[in-house]
Amino acid sequence: MKTWLAEVIAIGDELVSGQRLDTNSQWISQQLGQLGIRTAFHSTVGDDIDQNQAVFDTAIRRADIVISSGGLGPTADDLTREVIAAAAGVPLERRPEIVAHLEQLYARRNRQMPATNLCQADIPHGATIIPNPEGTAPGIDMAIEVDNSGRPNDQDVHRCRIFALPGVPAELKQMWGDTVQPAVRQLTGAPAVLRFRTLHVFGEGESKIEMMLPDLVRRGNDPTTGITASAATITLRVSTSGATEAECDAKIEPVLKTIHECLGDLVFGADGQTLGDVVVDRLVATQQTVAIVDHGLHGEVAAAIAAADPQRT
Ligand code: AMP
Ligand code: MG
Repeated sequence: MKTWLAEVIAIGDELVSGQRLDTNSQWISQQLGQLGIRTAFHSTVGDDIDQNQAVFDTAIRRADIVISSGGLGPTADDLTREVIAAAAGVPLERRPEIVAHLEQLYARRNRQMPATNLCQADIPHGATIIPNPEGTAPGIDMAIEVDNSGRPNDQDVHRCRIFALPGVPAELKQMWGDTVQPAVRQLTGAPAVLRFRTLHVFGEGESKIEMMLPDLVRRGNDPTTGITASAATITLRVSTSGATEAECDAKIEPVLKTIHECLGDLVFGADGQTLGDVVVDRLVATQQTVAIVDHGLHGEVAAAIAAADPQRT
């Protein structure tokens, strides 16, 4: 089964300057994950034409699917149309169906359309329009082939599919659901499933835990095992993709078993359980109570127990 790699590009000065958080990339990656597609890169770039061109040129060469958000509006800093056309080596052409859509939108609002808005009807030659029922800027769906000779890949041509969406989150989400998601499904074939399970560990540091696991946290493994640390808890995330949930589970289960065997009692919970959840579970099961003497912990233990959600899994 081909492994599809995606890159998500977020465009806007408001993002790189820190004025606004890039929530689109997070959302798009989650959606791609649900289709069994791994996002390999997130790139964020301001409204500068050369920098946009560099980001798109790179993404097109290293990813199979590129989803961008932003830069499709009517103002001079909206550059995505031009950049995609240049990357594909094709001219922009004005599409009458988009002009009609724009005129209709303005007529509905009883307003005169500024002439500058017409640039939103310019689409790279050969691209497919992604309709935007709620907004003015349509999206662009474009397949690009680049010469791959000389790269460590046995194919001379690398094919990339770009889906460019506007930055407004509500418009982006609707266009994803109506048009992009079905197109990505069709492109990648059978709807693959992406599954992950987590195990939570307490009592040793991240590097020690990694050393205790025989080669699990190695690149290129399937399932992949990732380690993250937060508030003295280590989380091991085991993930894979497959044709069905059962196929994924069959790959994940042996890895979970190996982790349990290697780490023993250091594993205290799974799939989102907190230390508090597990402690309260034990107390409930054995009908015991707990008294806390807090010296310098500022109520942290009591808070963890109060926040516990016993038998949550
Ligand atoms: P644009 O399509 O570039 O004109 O973006 C329109 C608006 O969408 C911006 O003013 C932002 O408020 C919002 N926006 C753009 N990109 C993002 C993003 N990556 N995450 C969240 N909001 C965004
Ligand atoms: Mg913008």
